[in-house]
Amino acid sequence: MAEPVLTIEHLTKEYDGQTVLKDVSLQVHEGEVIVIVGPSGSGKSTLLRCINALEDIQGGEIRLRGQKITAGAKNLPQIRQKIGMVFQSYELFPHLTVMNNILLAPMKAQKRAKEEVQAEAMALLTRVGLADKADSLPRQLSGGQKQRVAIVRALCMHPEILLFDEVTAALDPEMVREVLEVILQLAENKRTMLIVTHEMPFARAVADRIILLDDGRIQDDTDPEEFFESPKTELAKRFLQSFEYTRTRKSDD
Ligand code: ADP
Ligand code: MG
Repeated sequence: MAEPVLTIEHLTKEYDGQTVLKDVSLQVHEGEVIVIVGPSGSGKSTLLRCINALEDIQGGEIRLRGQKITAGAKNLPQIRQKIGMVFQSYELFPHLTVMNNILLAPMKAQKRAKEEVQAEAMALLTRVGLADKADSLPRQLSGGQKQRVAIVRALCMHPEILLFDEVTAALDPEMVREVLEVILQLAENKRTMLIVTHEMPFARAVADRIILLDDGRIQDDTDPEEFFESPKTELAKRFLQSFEYTRTRKSDD
């Protein structure tokens, strides 16, 4: 198999002497969609933040296309450009229009020509149904629209991998679907993605692999069919029960 896009080996992360990620190893290959699930506090966000070097790590190694990711290293800004991250809170600049929010990083960090990025941004905004919002300010958008802008902004950087951390958790129910549909589209286009979500039918639909994180450890790493239909571990069974996820809901999505 080709070299993985992302390799995590024996990652350990501590906060104030408390170990929150324990010997986490994981490979993500090109075009693969991995969904990370797990109870609150199990370390999902911390894992994504370590990948983006928003956190320093106490053990192990993270590599993107073979390049080691180290917090504070000289080459970090350049590696980070290849990692697109979308958070629960959209993190759009409130004083900039949608278009200028999207243009900022490609022009500043990647020194790309405005016209080129603008054309790409417009095409992507059109694809997510927001062509008419290019000149709007974030506060004029709904949560679902803001989140779609955040996804377009990440895509415009041409990342090698996209990280999503509970991007629908803050949205009203009617807006969840419009955002998940964009991510499903990205999966169909073979985007490499690592997705943290509590939306179980979505996880099942989008994932090539499901990883169950509990207490900072990978407890299960399996294909979605097995994870949802015949979970092997007690933890997986209990986790799914906590969602009251039953076979009858299979037709939901
Ligand atoms: P999840 O995203 O799965 O809910 P987190 O990665 O946010 O879990 O948190 C994992 C553990 O790390 C939790 O026990 C949390 O309290 C702790 N933690 C997260 N961020 C910090 C921080 N900045 N300082 C100290 N502890 C933290
Ligand atoms: Mg979290």
